[in-house]
Amino acid sequence: MQRFQSYINGEFLDGEARFQSIDPATGDVWADMPEAREGDVDNAVNAAEHALYEGPWARLTATQRGKLLYKLADLVATNAQKLAELETRDTGKIIRETSAQIAYVADYYRYYAGIADKIEGSYLPIDKPDMDVWLRREPIGVVAMVVPWNSQLFLSAVKIGPALAAGCTMVVKASEDGPAPLLEFARLVHEAGFPAGVVNILTGFGPSCGAALARHPKVAHVAFTGGPETARHIVRNSAENLASTSLELGGKSPFIVFADADFESAANAQVAGIFAATGQSCVAGSRLIVERSVKDAFLSILKRKAEAIRIGAPLDMATEVGPLATKRQQDHVAALVEKSVGSGARLVVGGERPAGNGYYFPPTILDCDGVASPSLAEEFFGPVLSVVSFETEAEALKLANDTRYGLASGVFTQNLTRAHRLMKGIRAGVVWVNTYRAVSPIAPFGGFGLSGHGREGGIAAALDYTRTKTIWLRTSDDPIPDPFVMR
Ligand code: NAD
Repeated sequence: MQRFQSYINGEFLDGEARFQSIDPATGDVWADMPEAREGDVDNAVNAAEHALYEGPWARLTATQRGKLLYKLADLVATNAQKLAELETRDTGKIIRETSAQIAYVADYYRYYAGIADKIEGSYLPIDKPDMDVWLRREPIGVVAMVVPWNSQLFLSAVKIGPALAAGCTMVVKASEDGPAPLLEFARLVHEAGFPAGVVNILTGFGPSCGAALARHPKVAHVAFTGGPETARHIVRNSAENLASTSLELGGKSPFIVFADADFESAANAQVAGIFAATGQSCVAGSRLIVERSVKDAFLSILKRKAEAIRIGAPLDMATEVGPLATKRQQDHVAALVEKSVGSGARLVVGGERPAGNGYYFPPTILDCDGVASPSLAEEFFGPVLSVVSFETEAEALKLANDTRYGLASGVFTQNLTRAHRLMKGIRAGVVWVNTYRAVSPIAPFGGFGLSGHGREGGIAAALDYTRTKTIWLRTSDDPIPDPFVMR
């Protein structure tokens, strides 16, 4: 059995307790993990605070910080395959996807390496004589980062990269479901030469470890990715330490297809949009909103493509859809499909949990036209597409915005003016037109409404990890007059 350690103050440690990690492809235990509780969390936050104000990190120039980030990027690139295999083993995300994604994670670190020495302060044209006034941009403080199981190296890179560029120190909590890749990544942080305490990486359970971290009095900011219910806990805890928060939460993203769309492209994008990562993707295009005149034709293409998907072992390069990450997730998906069918949704394809070990669930399409199906409102975080149809553009927009989430959206049409109207009208943080799922370190990403607030990616994300300090300097040599002597 493989054994992992946490990384606190530059040391690899066994943790206050241990727990076992399950291979989702087989349902068998495969690794032994360190479990952090309040004590480990406290040590890690104290180490981060010490590194922030007193350690060598505090004295590095921004350019030196950037160089360490470049080194980390190179190490991620060279170790991408190993990290990918660990993520696949521990979460069931297929190797095709983890290899490609982790190779790209290196580019996120490279992007923020370049930003480290471009975070500038400013000089203010103040409305008083003989005064120079500047804004300094300083690191926001110790940052707590809490991530879910899916794409942990990616979801942590969009936090760790900009936070290091800004000069912060941090404690990263890997998900208890599949922490292996992030715990292994700690070895690369160590090898890159970051001073002790700058990046601490541990794992543990939400209520004991995550909550202790989020409410720790020395934490200045909590960067969270996960579900809205957990986000509420985080926000409630922030009433104690008054930490700021950035929340990247779930979605129920609309995927709109007009009759004039290029069907082959739209169908491929929709298949990738909902079945990639076995649907365990915050941006999953989980609500297909299709023009009524082409609904049957489009659904039959989708059905054919869904049936042709190769389901199998996640470490096999030929596999296109692997298992869900946990039994809990498999049960949730199966139960929501059953509830939706019970409410009148019609199964176009899939829907049955296969027999055997492993947490598999097949690509599933539910026709929900004319039905108040719970599948249209609730997030599956699984490979299930819900379909509704529309007659007019106004109706399509109304359906698209009929959600409390607002993370991503897709529009497929050849009509340019219509595309422009929709990109303005859709209430979501990302609109993809004639494409889906494209991401880049250069492009900000984040949601509206129940999908959270704050943006990851882009230059502004690094500024979000800073706080300003206003410096007033009097330039006159004249003595300051006594305020109590009348003149
Ligand atoms: P989750 O909210 O259950 O868990 C996420 C993390 O929070 C885990 O590390 C967990 O241990 C921790 N946690 C749990 N309870 C906590 C508490 N009380 N205090 C502090 N931390 C706590 O989410 P999940 O089920 O692991 O992940 C799926 C969710 O994540 C979905 O809703 C999905 O849409 C969302 N997600 C969003 C994005 C995005 O960028 N917007 C990306 C990926 C996933």
